[in-house]
Amino acid sequence: MRDTSSGRQAVEPVVDVLVIGGGNAALCAALTAREAGASVLLLEASPRAWRGGNTQHTRNLRCMHDAPQDVLVDAYTEEEYWQDLRKVTGGQTDEALARLVIRASGSVRPWMRRHGVHFQPSLSGALHTARTNAFFMGGGKALVNAYYRSAERLGVQVRYEAPVDRLQLEDGRFVAAWSGARRIEARSCVLASGGFESNRAWLREAWGRDARGDYPADNFLIRGTRYNTGALLRFMLDAGADPVGDPTQAHMVAIDARAPLYDGGICTRIDCVSLGVVLNRDGERFDDEGEDFWPKRYAIWGRLVAGQPGQIAWSLIDAKAVGRFMPPVFPGTRANSLPELARALGLPEQRMLRTVTAYNAACRAGTFDHTLLDDCRTEGLAPPKSHWALALDTPPFTAYALRPGVTFTYLGLRTDATAAVRFGGRPSPNLFVAGEMMAGNVLGRGYTAGVGMSIGTAFGRLAGQYAARAARMEDARAAA
Ligand SMILES: Cc1cc2nc3c(=O)[nH]c(=O)nc-3n(C[C@H](O)[C@H](O)[C@H](O)COP(=O)(O)OP(=O)(O)OC[C@H]3O[C@@H](n4cnc5c(N)ncnc54)[C@H](O)[C@@H]3O)c2cc1C
Repeated sequence: MRDTSSGRQAVEPVVDVLVIGGGNAALCAALTAREAGASVLLLEASPRAWRGGNTQHTRNLRCMHDAPQDVLVDAYTEEEYWQDLRKVTGGQTDEALARLVIRASGSVRPWMRRHGVHFQPSLSGALHTARTNAFFMGGGKALVNAYYRSAERLGVQVRYEAPVDRLQLEDGRFVAAWSGARRIEARSCVLASGGFESNRAWLREAWGRDARGDYPADNFLIRGTRYNTGALLRFMLDAGADPVGDPTQAHMVAIDARAPLYDGGICTRIDCVSLGVVLNRDGERFDDEGEDFWPKRYAIWGRLVAGQPGQIAWSLIDAKAVGRFMPPVFPGTRANSLPELARALGLPEQRMLRTVTAYNAACRAGTFDHTLLDDCRTEGLAPPKSHWALALDTPPFTAYALRPGVTFTYLGLRTDATAAVRFGGRPSPNLFVAGEMMAGNVLGRGYTAGVGMSIGTAFGRLAGQYAARAARMEDARAAA
């Protein structure tokens, strides 16, 4: 075939299944398709050292289970998982697809183990997750390395520094992909190239200007890979694939304002929000810091900070909070009095003192317990603090500056229980999607820790299975 766009000739042997992307969803798809007997080529945009996309930064997978299971304590039933998801998404989720993900999460770990992933129990301080989340021994990087090792052993071809910028489609059918001047044909294809969180121009366009005339997205940091630019997502939307989700919806965490622009990973998280108060640059509180357990709320706070002037805020605690959360990598700003702290932070001193004094006065006596939704709450304060509300009265006081940290975006491609990409409501016969690129079907908004890997694992495996099947059908079609 001739590459008419570049004028150069680049012929590739045809594989059964082409997988585009190199993170969890892509690897699950590649492994499953290969296990089903398909020949598989995986194209990863990054160099080998940075392979694995956002997956390299992950730690765990949320799993349903009806009774204690190896690293998971007690039970976490399908219904409870579903209710958690329904609550955080405010009902913006496709129940059938969500339940498919939840059920798959209950039985997938033996398969993961066969491909070299090891699990460990949750560490103390790790977001109350001993019951709900299975942690990867060695983190996401070890999971990614194990999957690549297994893929290579099984004969999956892997190509690095191979970003795909466009596809050749015919009436919703995949024909070929282009990576620069290379044209790659395959009988079927799985798209698993993540969201568009590292495309700063697209973030700017999606978020627009705020009431102050600023572009909030210019102050966002990206917690994961710089390679998720959304090039293929944009191509697919322009090509008429059915979209799902809103471009301004994303998993966004309030992270250390000193984090790098990309790949800061989990160590930039600031986990003391529920133990103190959060102020904006005007010295005002703006949301309920104790509404629910932190794992169910941490992904809301990036968005809340994004709505504040200058997209910056400060998490303030006193000495009572120390030892009750995972300490950040870098020390916070410390002071022996609140006025001294306000001056060190450059916050308006009188307003900050007014805010903290009003908060302290509104705290009602209760029995503090950070492992329960306790009865320490404010009364007559707006916004309230519903749990863990203790007066900030014990020096030294510490503050951490917060910025919105984008984990991944939710705009994606609509799909169904076969993981097919859809055009005008019609499923493609041989083009499938998995992971962040379709997570918006399950996560219209909000987040609960560990569900990203549940979605990518369930849909990656489904996509691999259906892609292998589609390749066999394409073969049969060609032979007929
Ligand atoms: C700091 C951090 C911590 C997280 N922790 C957790 C956690 O503990 N549990 C959890 O469930 N979720 C977690 N997440 C979310 C999780 O990373 C994602 O839900 C999951 O990894 C998505 O997998 P994916 O394969 O869709 O995307 P990714 O892992 O991001 O993979 C996308 C891949 O596509 C490649 N790519 C992009 N564009 C192209 C292109 N044009 N051509 C070819 N390749 C391309 C990228 O290089 C990358 O390899 C975390 C995310 C971050 C950033």
